[in-house]
Amino acid sequence: MSDTNSDADSEGTLDAGSLRTPIVAVLGHVDHGKTTLLDRIRGSAVQEGEAGAITQHIGATAVPLSTISEMAGALVDPTDFDLPGLLFIDTPGHHSFSTLRSRGGALADIAVLVVDVNDGFQPQTEEAINILKRTGTPFVVAANKVDTTPGWNPQEGQPIQQSLEQQSERATSRLNENLYELIGDLSDEGFSADFYWRVQDFQSNIGVVPLSAMTGEGIPDLLTVLMGLSQRYMKEEMSVDVTGPGVGTVLEVKDEQGFGATLDVVLYDGVVREGDTVVVGGRDEPIVTEVRALLQPRPNAEIRAEKQFERVEEVRAAAGVKIAAPDLDDAMSGAPIRVVRGDDEAALETVTQEVREELAKIEVDTAEDGVVVKADTLGSLEAMANALDEAEIPILRAEVGDVAPRDVTVAQTAKEDVHKVILGFNVDVLPDAEEAIEHTDVRLFDDDVIYQLVEEYEAYVEELERAQQ
Ligand code: GDP
Repeated sequence: MSDTNSDADSEGTLDAGSLRTPIVAVLGHVDHGKTTLLDRIRGSAVQEGEAGAITQHIGATAVPLSTISEMAGALVDPTDFDLPGLLFIDTPGHHSFSTLRSRGGALADIAVLVVDVNDGFQPQTEEAINILKRTGTPFVVAANKVDTTPGWNPQEGQPIQQSLEQQSERATSRLNENLYELIGDLSDEGFSADFYWRVQDFQSNIGVVPLSAMTGEGIPDLLTVLMGLSQRYMKEEMSVDVTGPGVGTVLEVKDEQGFGATLDVVLYDGVVREGDTVVVGGRDEPIVTEVRALLQPRPNAEIRAEKQFERVEEVRAAAGVKIAAPDLDDAMSGAPIRVVRGDDEAALETVTQEVREELAKIEVDTAEDGVVVKADTLGSLEAMANALDEAEIPILRAEVGDVAPRDVTVAQTAKEDVHKVILGFNVDVLPDAEEAIEHTDVRLFDDDVIYQLVEEYEAYVEELERAQQ
């Protein structure tokens, strides 16, 4: 297969036209439908996509333009686009996303903010909005679960605007109330938002796409808006050199049989090849190592059956790929990874310094006394630090990784009792650490929702203060 102008070449890398595939992240409050939306996009693409279907990557799914235009029918004229398609990051959530959107690079170029129309703005919606604002990421709002509106009459196979017009008076008035409230909430956040079909300029206005991840209504509309938004954004903002040395972000560090620690990486720029030297953000220092193998899911393997890998020699942005290399044990999720071509010592030095600087940008202010924080990725660590800062909770130490015995030792050194605490976000507690905690007065709180973790801790502080009075 030729590697130009085809929708998906043999390595599963989209490569058509002059722009690389935009990377799309899905964000939003828990239970608002992020996973269902992603599954639905993948499922519908597989069902309908005779043209190019989808390509499964590590940690991401590529939907080619031909498939999108097939799904979207009259909504999308494929000749309007220079983009090869869209690459959706499979893991919904916003914490890894929040790091390292600098130097023109990005884990994701654009985002979908999923909001349950009945539930409206919730704490994680606000968190996501703050990240989108801070990083200046263009986004659209998926006003999800329209099908749950009392009296909703499903109308598939047409633009969602028409479906809305064909609803009963009862359904329409209820839904409109919710949708206008959502538009109002977005406006309180400083965004001028409107139903997507009324938006002229998606750069300065936020398009709201009413849809149902469950029935699939409105999903073609969402894909259309994402294509339009990416096209503008990629043309104006991105100067992507897809043939240069690869640049990416580590999504996860995973042990893989036969390979040891491996990295699941989203490559957002350039090319990575077997044998390349790479610099990866590590716990203490940038790690310099050599790519031993590049792995991608076997074509046609079950979606998410990521264990069936095949080796590829080269991967081009945008793509998700598993990288096997020596010495990756201390690599961190959310850290940058960059390729250095050839034996260029000077380039290696520069890139290492750049990786060091990018890591230093992840700001966590620590204090003389405070709690110990552990989080799964650099992005979530930063998000935790921001949340704790807002709640005026001081941090003694903050690190990426599971809760280990060493953390218990550190927490014990806290001066005040309310600080002899470990807050774990999205991490495991190692058995040794659990045992250590039992033998000390250190308290552990772990959760996978930041604001809940903060609330749990605050409740504990109150309880402790009451007991001491
Ligand atoms: P996430 O936590 O944001 O990933 O949310 P999920 O995708 O897991 O969805 C949470 C719940 O809402 C699940 O029970 C879904 O089946 C349900 N759900 C998601 N989208 C829709 C929708 O469009 N309509 C309806 N009726 N239910 C939905």
